[in-house]
Amino acid sequence: ISKEEGRMKEAHAFAAEYYQHLLLNTEEGEKALIYLEQRGFTKELIESYGIGWSLPHWDSLTQLLTRKGFELQEMEQSGLIIQREDGSGWFDRFRERIMFPIKDDSGRIIAFSGRIIDHTGEDAKYLNSPETPIFHKGQVLYNLDQARPIIRKERKIVLFEGFMDVLSAKKANVHNGVGTMGTSLTMQHLNKIKRLAERIIVCYDGDKAGWEAAKRAAEMLHAEKMKVDVAVLPTGLDPDDYIKQFGEESFKSKIIEEPQSYIAFMLMYARRNKNFQFNNDILQYVDEALNYLVGGISPIEKELYIKQISTETNISEDTLNMQLRQKEGQLA
Ligand code: ATP
Ligand code: MN
Ligand code: MN
Ligand code: MN
Repeated sequence: ISKEEGRMKEAHAFAAEYYQHLLLNTEEGEKALIYLEQRGFTKELIESYGIGWSLPHWDSLTQLLTRKGFELQEMEQSGLIIQREDGSGWFDRFRERIMFPIKDDSGRIIAFSGRIIDHTGEDAKYLNSPETPIFHKGQVLYNLDQARPIIRKERKIVLFEGFMDVLSAKKANVHNGVGTMGTSLTMQHLNKIKRLAERIIVCYDGDKAGWEAAKRAAEMLHAEKMKVDVAVLPTGLDPDDYIKQFGEESFKSKIIEEPQSYIAFMLMYARRNKNFQFNNDILQYVDEALNYLVGGISPIEKELYIKQISTETNISEDTLNMQLRQKEGQLA
């Protein structure tokens, strides 16, 4: 890497050390520490993930990094500070937020995400570093640096949306979890994952956005020949919420270890918002569902899902099979 990039990472290392000190050892960090404790963070977890706190002041990081010999331009290019619009000065990007360091594959800090404590809806709940020469959001998976050895060993990875989900899952002994940090899965993420594992469990939030994102990610991973399962959460809960409500043991054994297969999830998704009192909904569902059974699936799976669709729609297995053969014929 270039000298400039090395300096940017150094600045991030100083910043993270400073933020963590504020969280753990100062009165100003107390409120944040209590918040984290209430969310189940232990001191060990906070330390091993370098979590910190940024002061409400406008320029405390700017001053610290200046003392460490960094130029304002460098700080700005690394995303840590922002120049005022009228050009009259600079201010810290992150103020009064819980700081999550984001690391590259070799474990060096390249960005931050900061969470507001009292989230009332006015400011964004999470604020991320911008795209910089060292941080490309579409290439980074949160926790991949720490999870890599176990992912490689098990050939299996769990994909979450958020920081809190990755960290709560870790407490629940799911150590092979990584986070997309709210962005959609990219081809670059996928190429990284593919090198380490054959099998992936998508475990996104149990809300509309999470379901849709899970469907997109699953389709993409399936198209890239990975073995995809989807761990589905009860409506309204994300992995972190689930663990809080039902416990770590239940999360591991009922959610992570009993996911839906790719096809079962796709059928589930296709069934959503359909009312089988209406023929149109049945026809639409059967059409979508059978598309997933065309090609590339074993006769046993085929029979299993044909049975399921038949039970759901009251259309005989024979008729469904006939329709499926017709679809396959069209494809051939
Ligand atoms: P929490 O449990 O702290 O409320 P969450 O992870 O459940 O957080 P979600 O709203 O589900 O929050 O968002 C999932 C992820 O998307 C977050 O962890 C974060 O990485 C990212 N994200 C959420 N809101 C924003 C935002 N306003 N700007 C940038 N990234 C965001
Ligand atoms: Mn979400
Ligand atoms: Mn969430
Ligand atoms: Mn959450």
